[in-house]
Amino acid sequence: HDVYGAPVIGDHGRWLGVVIVMHDITELIRLEQIRKDFVANVSHELRTPVTSIKGFSETLLDGAYKDEPMLLSFLEIMHKESNRLQMLIQDLLELSKIEQHGFTVNLMPMGLQDVLIRAVELTGPRLDEKDMNFQVEMEHDVQVMGDVNRLIQIATNLITNAITYSPEDTTITIRLKENATHGIIEIEDQGIGIEKHEIARVFERFYRVDRARSRNSGGTGLGLAIVKHLVEAHHGRIQVVSEVGVGTKMIVCIPKT
Ligand code: ADP
Repeated sequence: HDVYGAPVIGDHGRWLGVVIVMHDITELIRLEQIRKDFVANVSHELRTPVTSIKGFSETLLDGAYKDEPMLLSFLEIMHKESNRLQMLIQDLLELSKIEQHGFTVNLMPMGLQDVLIRAVELTGPRLDEKDMNFQVEMEHDVQVMGDVNRLIQIATNLITNAITYSPEDTTITIRLKENATHGIIEIEDQGIGIEKHEIARVFERFYRVDRARSRNSGGTGLGLAIVKHLVEAHHGRIQVVSEVGVGTKMIVCIPKT
């Protein structure tokens, strides 16, 4: 706590009392710590691929380029690492834009059905790569106040995670429902699941349950932080229901028109 005191002096210099101002700075300290952690995380995340690209290119320049299989395998790694770097920079810029004070989404009356159809189209190729299936359950369209492109981004992101954190040959169920006030999107997988104590943390920037696994799958660790911001910009909510070894269900509620 910060405490300031000042005497209050009345007429003829008479001492009337003291005004004390107490300011709770624990929240400020917490925010400062989050900011420092973020900078440290960004630096680490950026350094890792750069170190790798630098190391492999140096080895090639030192003569390894003459060995064709080695040349190819090193180039592949360098290509993968530069992709990672590009995605990371994209997600960082996106997050910083979304977190700006005054960031808004363009809310208009619109149907959620088209959003889910588009997200299914966009993620189809990745699904096929893993021999997985979609099951789409939409009885009728639901009109919400939304920004079409942002909602497609939210759904695509959640479906991509569902694919990433599921074994081959499993099914992802995509449901469109509603209650009295909200349109509800559910993305349910039969994947690895998330431990109870980790569930709240997955929305933190750079938080990953399994760092190595997420990295290898090409994740930046920023996806769910971005999703949460976008859902909140819609005045909506996102909820996670998950059980380890059974699967995860992401539930997004968006206010109806
Ligand atoms: P990443 O780029 O690592 O996927 P996200 O922010 O999208 O980052 O997700 C954060 C972490 O939450 C992931 O690293 C993963 O551990 C966990 N996670 C997200 N979605 C799922 C899911 N459908 N099933 C299991 N774990 C998940």
